[in-house]
Amino acid sequence: MAKKPKFQTVKGMHDILPEDQKYYRKIYEVGSKIAEFYGFKKIDTPIIEDADLFIRGVGSATDIVKKEMFTFRTKGGENVALRPEGTASILRAYFQHGMHTLPQPVKLWYFGPFFRYEKPQADRYRQFWQFGIEVLGESSPIIDAQVILISYNILKELKFKDIVVNINTIGCRQCRPYYKKLLTSYFKSRVSSLCPDCRRRLQENVLRILDCKQEKCQPIKAQAPQILDHLCDECKEHFKSVLEFLDGVEIPYNLDPYLVRGLDYYTRTVFELSIKDSGEISQTALGGGGRYDLLGKIIGPKEVPACGTALGVERIIKLIKEKEIKIPEEKECQVFLIQLGDLARIKSLKLLEEFRKARINVGESLGKGGMRAQLSRANQLKAKYALILGQKEAVDGIIIIKNMENGKQETVKMEKVIEVIKKKLSTNRKK
Ligand code: AMP
Repeated sequence: MAKKPKFQTVKGMHDILPEDQKYYRKIYEVGSKIAEFYGFKKIDTPIIEDADLFIRGVGSATDIVKKEMFTFRTKGGENVALRPEGTASILRAYFQHGMHTLPQPVKLWYFGPFFRYEKPQADRYRQFWQFGIEVLGESSPIIDAQVILISYNILKELKFKDIVVNINTIGCRQCRPYYKKLLTSYFKSRVSSLCPDCRRRLQENVLRILDCKQEKCQPIKAQAPQILDHLCDECKEHFKSVLEFLDGVEIPYNLDPYLVRGLDYYTRTVFELSIKDSGEISQTALGGGGRYDLLGKIIGPKEVPACGTALGVERIIKLIKEKEIKIPEEKECQVFLIQLGDLARIKSLKLLEEFRKARINVGESLGKGGMRAQLSRANQLKAKYALILGQKEAVDGIIIIKNMENGKQETVKMEKVIEVIKKKLSTNRKK
């Protein structure tokens, strides 16, 4: 048996190998194109932030902060964390760079790695990637609907079918306290039937119980009072409008009165996106988000109405693979250069440079000498044309162009080859 290499990735971390890059690139391309159409601009924030930003922002009682943050002290004594999510950092940047003084709303998108010390599972990593959007400085319910629409369209553009938006409202500071009181007294009277985590949640943040996935807690949860019956008029109106906007753009949604999400900063609209498989809504969310109007005051100088979403890139990739959705190879290489002999190899390097300047992708295996190995690589890459440069051609300053589909060959002067290939590729494109 082969010896295991000395070093492996750290638990929960994963390499993104060359063959998987096309998935990340595709999600980046689809996400950025749709977001930019709607006027979003890209932002990158550091991977390391002040730990307090998340402790206060995401909430000290949440699982993310309590159990899952990678926190450490720097040599200079700062208490920092690897970012577990994007929203708090973006709001920090919004204030830090005076974006609150710009015309509102400010619309931002991001794509990058996030870190949570979770129990690693098939679709749960300790470093994972998210694509996210945030709209800052606008309270209208049409923004909530637009954020949902964008998340939905990204999944749709990635060729997913049966996408479902689970949606709920968790009220605001007017109506939520009373609802929390009701929930507390409901769960208190059933405390002995709750799982240990929910008993803790009952003390720290009763809403979290609604998020519990433990079998034991499900029947109790199913009878719990619903916030929809206890919303203030403003929240009721806001939620009604969000749903009307979604109806208007024909986004299928499922009202889930117990959806609360794992972060403390939400107010009003919360949602998650999943896929329906044989009629059943999958338990694994591909993404989610909501409105977070109060977060500005918690981590910054003032409240800012805002709404955002984050899609989980690895979850999406897993599903793309399961559903066998075709993602084209990144760089289609329609031309392949075959060289035979020393002089041909020397000339090949220069010729490849000329193709690069002409922006035509050309595949090669310069390390190989034999015709058969190189032809088979050309076939593997599905090249339409092979350029064959043998000893004789190299001496005479010519090159053979072989059409890989019909096997026909023609010889052209070396200095004309780029022009001829350009013409052939553009005729192919027009066909
Ligand atoms: P959240 O920031 O918790 O709302 O997560 C948004 C999305 O990111 C989720 O719906 C998942 O698709 C994805 N996600 C969250 N945590 C992980 C993780 N540990 N590993 C992989 N994907 C994750």
